Amino acid sequence: MRVLIIGAGTGGLILANTLARKLSTSTEIILIEKSKNHYFQPGFTLLCFRLISEEFISRPVKYLLSKRVKLIQGEVKTLNPLTKEVTLSSGESINYDKLVISTGAELDWEKIPGISEGLYKGNIYEFYTLSGAKKLKEEIPRLKGGTIVSAIGGIPIKCPAAPIKFILLLEDYLRKKGLREKFKLIFITPAGQVLGRSPYAEKLENICKERNIQVIKNFQIKEVDVVKRKIKGEEEIFYDYLIFTPPHTIHKAFLEIPDFCDETGFIKVDSHRLQHKLYRDIFALGDVASLPTAKTASGTRLQAKVLAKKLSVFTGSKTEDSTIYDGEILCPVMTRFGKIMFSRYNYEKSLSPPKESRLNWMLHVWLGKYLYWQIFLKGF
Ligand SMILES: Cc1cc2nc3c(=O)[nH]c(=O)nc-3n(C[C@H](O)[C@H](O)[C@H](O)COP(=O)(O)OP(=O)(O)OC[C@H]3O[C@@H](n4cnc5c(N)ncnc54)[C@H](O)[C@@H]3O)c2cc1C
Repeated sequence: MRVLIIGAGTGGLILANTLARKLSTSTEIILIEKSKNHYFQPGFTLLCFRLISEEFISRPVKYLLSKRVKLIQGEVKTLNPLTKEVTLSSGESINYDKLVISTGAELDWEKIPGISEGLYKGNIYEFYTLSGAKKLKEEIPRLKGGTIVSAIGGIPIKCPAAPIKFILLLEDYLRKKGLREKFKLIFITPAGQVLGRSPYAEKLENICKERNIQVIKNFQIKEVDVVKRKIKGEEEIFYDYLIFTPPHTIHKAFLEIPDFCDETGFIKVDSHRLQHKLYRDIFALGDVASLPTAKTASGTRLQAKVLAKKLSVFTGSKTEDSTIYDGEILCPVMTRFGKIMFSRYNYEKSLSPPKESRLNWMLHVWLGKYLYWQIFLKGF
């Protein structure tokens, strides 16, 4: 029996390390990863504001993985769900009995015209990559005045709260520097709320109102004119600095398979069982999966635990297992320096009050990085 996992991100590493403890050695566990390093992506937002040092952001995958798991460095280029095999960029093909896809989401810089031409050089910035976060870390202390827009180019995105928390932290930063009056701050989203869930969305909208951050909802960006610094949609919005979060997609190896993804462009799995709706030996978790909840590391971790349990049953004699994922996620929304509101909910209901707290800040900003590297990735 062979379990093949693609992607050593949050989901792939937690799953592989948990399975390494759960499965007998008669089951082979293979993990394929295209990158040498694993990234702690929640740290990107923190890095922009110097709340984390770079040493906590990335580590080599090989040091994060149980020795029981075979690591193959390479990019999966194709998947054939009928013959149950994947091919790598090297040309090698590998077959599987059970496949887990945890390849995350990719950033689509080309979808909105103008963005890729203006990125980093035309006053367009981003913090969804390490290099983008590092550039913002240098740029933020140089800000002197003008209109700053934090805009989402398409949904769903990973950590849907990240663009609003960026502008809230920036507002607090400018206020503390005595520069707030020199700036107009705008938040743009194509969604009907600043965050996908009540009561957190309403709370955030009130905070934005109190702190004079303009919120523009239901705004689909069609194009960005880099020369005139103009965002074009139903109306035109001028910016001096645009902090842009691009639409997300997934690796084309999976997009090319007929009926493999749903209308949102993510892998269509059962939202409770994480099992592909057509191919019963394929599972997906994390950002690559089409789950009706927020794409977060916290949710991915819970999904990995559910899958580890399921796979330990499926690699034995049973074919049915009642363990389910209930959609739970926890998204820490940094509303100002020293304060975080946790938005925690599942498919059914909200699980935490919409309250800003200092304790939440300590848990996420001070403790989070240690928990992530030392506990969570190891599958605990
Ligand atoms: C700026 C930012 C802030 C965030 N803040 C938070 C937060 O505060 N809290 C929170 O819970 N979540 C947060 N997240 C979201 C969180 O990081 C992701 O939801 C989580 O990492 C998803 O895990 P994953 O395993 O699905 O994907 P990833 O961790 O992205 O891993 C995917 C892996 O697959 C590999 N891969 C891709 N394609 C292939 C291929 N074809 N072949 C081989 N390997 C491949 C990639 O190299 C990568 O290593 C944030 C994300 C960002 C960008």
